[in-house]
Amino acid sequence: MNELAESIWEIKGNKAGKTLTIVGGTHGNERTGVEVVLRLKAMVESGALQIKRGTLYLILGNPRAIEINTRGSEPFHDLNRSYPTDLLRREPDGTYENARARLIAPLLQKSDVVIDLHSTNKPSEPFLACLHSARHEEVYKWFACDKILADPNFVLGGKSVTTDEYTVAYGGIGICYETGQASDTRRVLAVAQGVLGVMQDLQIIAHKHKPVPLCERETYELVESILPTTANFRFAEGYGNHSWEPFYVGDVIGYDGDQPRKVSYDGMLVFPKEEGKVMGYLAKRVEADTQP
Ligand SMILES: [Zn+2]
Repeated sequence: MNELAESIWEIKGNKAGKTLTIVGGTHGNERTGVEVVLRLKAMVESGALQIKRGTLYLILGNPRAIEINTRGSEPFHDLNRSYPTDLLRREPDGTYENARARLIAPLLQKSDVVIDLHSTNKPSEPFLACLHSARHEEVYKWFACDKILADPNFVLGGKSVTTDEYTVAYGGIGICYETGQASDTRRVLAVAQGVLGVMQDLQIIAHKHKPVPLCERETYELVESILPTTANFRFAEGYGNHSWEPFYVGDVIGYDGDQPRKVSYDGMLVFPKEEGKVMGYLAKRVEADTQP
């Protein structure tokens, strides 16, 4: 095992093959991904996990933020908005997150598959945030969840800026798996097992595992952000407590000052926030497999 830079490890098999990258701690307080990466690393070190072919990269995205158990380092920059497609053609901006993204980006470019492990600030069932294509499904079949949240119109970042989007821009399969609430690490083992399943499909390790039994998966697309126009936004009762709160056409989901925020379609509220410029996002159910 080679540590290419701080908390970026490369493990190569004896034979040529596919490249898989597992990232945890892109947001430092999201502990499941950190634990999964450390567990896989320990398995490689102990010999319990033998990389036969290809290359495995294990990455802790934001070591400074992991150290202080916060989303980003101080001053705050979001590492998962730090991967514009032309990142490496730009000048460094001097921030820690930009420097980390510049170390990690070349590995994302080389990867056939990238799995970036995240968690939500509010309680949530696990879900996948990625494109809903057949190639993506080949990978995410290993992860328990019944919802896919796609963002083909870049509502989250305004343009391609996340690890999974960056990977897709360079021809790989990029997946962001939201494993539940940030402090809840009960899913570490299940997530690590899913990663082993992906390794087996890519023939990085020898065959051993079976995919998670498939439940019906519902696919959603992000439609818009909740962008208050006043400093005084509050969610209506029953909203803003966790991801995947259903709403129905005509519902008032919150108040922007004294103006009710009404929705004009049925959907789900995801990533609700306590405060900030964006208070959350609205997603709508779509037919699966509308993309190649
Ligand atoms: Zn995150």
